Amino acid sequence: MKNPKEEQTYVMIKPDGVRKGLVGEVIRRFEQRDLKIVALEMFQPTHDQIDNHYPKNEEWVTRLGEKTVSTYEKYGYDLIADFGTTDRAKIGPEIRKWLLDYMKSAPLVKMIVQGLHSVDVVRKLAGETLPYKAAVGTIRGDFSIDSPALANKEKRAVMNIIHCSETPEEANHEIKHWFGDNTTYDYKRFGVDE
Ligand code: ATP
Ligand code: MG
Repeated sequence: MKNPKEEQTYVMIKPDGVRKGLVGEVIRRFEQRDLKIVALEMFQPTHDQIDNHYPKNEEWVTRLGEKTVSTYEKYGYDLIADFGTTDRAKIGPEIRKWLLDYMKSAPLVKMIVQGLHSVDVVRKLAGETLPYKAAVGTIRGDFSIDSPALANKEKRAVMNIIHCSETPEEANHEIKHWFGDNTTYDYKRFGVDE
């Protein structure tokens, strides 16, 4: 059994995060919470890398559609006018395409973040997926306000600054996908590891 302090999660600063100049701010918030960056790199992703990063199964893709449908219903917007259908299973794939375009639109910064409950703590620091719902004090809640109501009218994905793994299993998978077997850099943080 690994030490609980060795839990790792995968984080990517998305194109809007890089273009807003938030690379330093995002890393600062993780480090401030006693989490440790153990791998870090800026890169321009290929189409296939992004395509293989996001799940392709119907359940996940339909869930993407679900977020759009609930926003549209809440605000009384017309799904038929924007998508030609109300079927989540058909709206989901369209959004996944926009997501790939968005993720390729600028360089990304990828990192492995390590520490106690790092998966959950990083998600908490990130805030809810849809920035207009994200609490103040979170990365998304402090630096963005986007929602499907605007993004989908502009035929694009919701811009929300960072990606972070949802579960430890997803983290393992994403770390392998993006870093392969490259070594991470371990070191002792003052006040955390000793
Ligand atoms: P991430 O996986 O990027 O950390 P997340 O887990 O909070 O975000 P997911 O449900 O996995 O959110 O969605 C992946 C990404 O797809 C979101 O981060 C956002 O950029 C985009 N997205 C999600 N829902 C919608 C939507 N309804 N319309 C447009 N884009 C969306
Ligand atoms: Mg996700």
